[in-house]
Amino acid sequence: MSTARFLGYDTDESGKLVVNKKQAKIVQRLYMEFLHGKTTDYIKRIFEREGVVNWNGSTKWQATTLASMLENEKYKGDALLQKSYTADFLTKKRVMNEGEIQQFYIEDDHEAIIEPWIWECVQLEMERRKRYLEEHGTNSFSHNTEQNPFAAKIICGECGKVFHRKGWQSSTGEIRRIWQCSERYKVKGVLGCSNRHIDEDTVRKIYFMAWNKMLECREALLPEWKEKAQGEDLLARFRALEFMELTEHAQPIQELGVDLMLRTLDHIKVYESGVVVTVFLDGTEIEYKTEN
Ligand SMILES: [Zn+2]
Repeated sequence: MSTARFLGYDTDESGKLVVNKKQAKIVQRLYMEFLHGKTTDYIKRIFEREGVVNWNGSTKWQATTLASMLENEKYKGDALLQKSYTADFLTKKRVMNEGEIQQFYIEDDHEAIIEPWIWECVQLEMERRKRYLEEHGTNSFSHNTEQNPFAAKIICGECGKVFHRKGWQSSTGEIRRIWQCSERYKVKGVLGCSNRHIDEDTVRKIYFMAWNKMLECREALLPEWKEKAQGEDLLARFRALEFMELTEHAQPIQELGVDLMLRTLDHIKVYESGVVVTVFLDGTEIEYKTEN
């Protein structure tokens, strides 16, 4: 079992995995950033911006490496032996074991870096995002979260597809950012989905008004959060604990904070009637009627 390229652990003389405390912090951070709504692309850029050091001393990171780290069962203390095996004893070429030889799954093989239930939450969150993207007809959240945090988060209430961002130039030359259903002009020149567009400024305002409403209604929401925090659904449990913590002693916000938004917002649904529904990750929905 090769551990040379394995962030978070060192190997002792007997070949046993031993936690590398400094690297373990990076692994824990990766898991939490992901559960806080960030993509591996975005986390890669954050790590590089902050100069977080990789296993090989470099500050370069790959989103694909981060993604495979999120699925690695070793971080919760388990080990899957015979993941790959030597297929050709002459060339020593190793291939992935896809059932050709027996695999052994060993629980509590070594000290965990990630609590098992948090590890499970990450797997559930990965599945949730995959389903979400499929359901709304898109293949990714933004590759540019810093500039475009609402990407894939504004959903058409009429057809269920994502809204796309556009820049409209005004007569004075200013660019006005608006969002429009991706089905509207899917076929060039033919009007598809009839839903109207919405201004990005309006979306920002709706998000923070909804969040402030949530703070106001905290007492009423608490019993449900408390129940979910004890429930079987681990991801729902994680969210409930998050929302309880985030809303405790929190002050109303005056403008959009990207981190808070990514951590709390599932999506914003826009209807042709002007009704806009903010759906939070704990399941709470807050409705507004915008001016037509
Ligand atoms: Zn639509």
